Amino acid sequence: MDEISIDTDLGKAVEFHGHLCPGLAIGYRVARYVKEHYPRSEDEELVCIAENNSCSVDAVQELLGCTFGKGNLIYRDNGKQVFTFFSRKEGRAMRIYFKGDLSGSMDDLRARYFKGDLSEKEKTEFEAMRSQVTEHIIKAADDELLHVSEVDIPAPQKARIYPSLQCQVCKEGFMEICGRTANGKTICKECFQKITG
Ligand SMILES: [Zn+2]
Ligand SMILES: [Zn+2]
Repeated sequence: MDEISIDTDLGKAVEFHGHLCPGLAIGYRVARYVKEHYPRSEDEELVCIAENNSCSVDAVQELLGCTFGKGNLIYRDNGKQVFTFFSRKEGRAMRIYFKGDLSGSMDDLRARYFKGDLSEKEKTEFEAMRSQVTEHIIKAADDELLHVSEVDIPAPQKARIYPSLQCQVCKEGFMEICGRTANGKTICKECFQKITG
């Protein structure tokens, strides 16, 4: 895939994600666009609401600093390549929908590829198409790929820190809000699930 030129940001995203693929390229383009409007989030000032949990989210985490661990990445299971960014500083939000046509003719091949059903020749063909799609996503103009709109949404809740308790069964510490009671004991969710099956 060395015909695809990789800039520093894309390189960082690939390093974080583990490989270059169409999904990562989508996230890279979204992140690149957002970076022109908001600074990278060192702390929680930029919040991303991602409507999918695919490869694209990894580029957003790496390049924009909206991460699962900091609590400024919120996942909504809608299966859409939609990302909404809320700036706490400016109190405004930007919604980005990736409208680029990704697969089309690739759908059948892709399904069989992941099932391990392709012949060697088809596999080579599929991989070539995939790199072409990836390259296109990296190079195409913003307005061909992204539908961007300003949206009015309430400020997402900040990440909260809860007190810790010790589970009376496994003795491990856990966040109070995740606790359960069973047989008069305060226990962690994991132990609760073991008891209740
Ligand atoms: Zn990937
Ligand atoms: Zn426990």
